[in-house]
Amino acid sequence: MNERQLLMIPGPISFDPAVLRVMSTPTDSHVSAEFIELFGRALDDMLQVFLAPHGYPFVVAGSGTLAMELGLANLIEPGDRVLVIRTGVFGERFSDIARRQEAVVDEITAPLGEAPALAEVEKQLASASYKVMTVTHVDTSTGVAADAKGLAALARKHGALMVLDGVCATAGMECQQEAWGVDVYLTASQKAISVPPGLALLVASEQAMEAFRKRKSLVRSYYADWGKWLPIMDAYRGRKAAYFGTPAVNLIYALRLSLSQILAEGMEARFARHLQLSDGFKAAATALGLRQVPVRPEFGAATLTAAYYPEGVGAELLKKVADEGVILAGGLHPDIKTRYFRVGHMGPTLPSDILATVGAIERGLAALGHPVEMGAGVQAAQKAMGV
Ligand SMILES: *Cc1c(COP(=O)(O)O)cnc(C)c1O
Repeated sequence: MNERQLLMIPGPISFDPAVLRVMSTPTDSHVSAEFIELFGRALDDMLQVFLAPHGYPFVVAGSGTLAMELGLANLIEPGDRVLVIRTGVFGERFSDIARRQEAVVDEITAPLGEAPALAEVEKQLASASYKVMTVTHVDTSTGVAADAKGLAALARKHGALMVLDGVCATAGMECQQEAWGVDVYLTASQKAISVPPGLALLVASEQAMEAFRKRKSLVRSYYADWGKWLPIMDAYRGRKAAYFGTPAVNLIYALRLSLSQILAEGMEARFARHLQLSDGFKAAATALGLRQVPVRPEFGAATLTAAYYPEGVGAELLKKVADEGVILAGGLHPDIKTRYFRVGHMGPTLPSDILATVGAIERGLAALGHPVEMGAGVQAAQKAMGV
């Protein structure tokens, strides 16, 4: 690996050097006074980043998929109905997890590159008594963003709990968990939260906690049971120690620092910066003749761009771009896997990183003999990002 490479994939991302450095701090006891304070602060800060001041935060060692399971396993009992909104491959994962919990699962699958219309979702919600509706805020396989606010309002109206997968969105795309009525908002450390992989993060609403308390059966996962973790999180928030499973101490050092950086930037400014980066990259893609997977701009995520290769070009482009020091991701959605690529632009990414990435794509296309007007993408990105 070239240590100066730009990792522009939709997670893990290029992390802030200070966040990486703090992970090499000697590992402290998880019950030391210093660690109790640090973890407690991280949990408090998480509620500000999730915009859920009265929520119940959880930080558990694991990846984003564990966060999804932590969300569903605690709300579902056998026979409960779950509505899964699918805008790419990550919705299917929710269905799989829900079926493991013996839920009855219905899906609304949007055509590739689209999110379903609210009217269609409302019709389905009205047709049966759903306990939970799952939504993928940004589906990383398609670059499609769902209308989290509109969908949360529908879920509330029809008495369903909304579980929102924010793995590729949280701290990059606006989501006001409490104001919008999102019951479980979950993410993982390695995307816009900007901490190396290994932490599952989740905030539950009072309504979600109420549903959890009313369960008649045991949660069918030992490690993912909120009942095991809630006393631990409560203890650290009250600046006391408690033990269930050893916390990922060094990752929590990094989380604490990254959350404080996020809050220092300010949530509104941070969401606006992600839009700026996204507008810049998407304008460049258009200028270079790269068609995006989201079929209309309103379906496009701010944290990543999924674009088709131009005619006559394939995954060899990614190799050429890597030779320029920029790492991009290939396709993930099975229907179009070999025909498109993905670029992440989240976390500490700067406008100049967008320019470097666009420049590397121009050079890669030229190296493959593809007709490209050198600088056209960079110019479009500069114009779209402003100063
Ligand atoms: C990355 C991602 C996941 C899975 O996270 P892992 O950390 O790989 O388990 C789930 N949902 C979305 C939307 C993602 O982008």
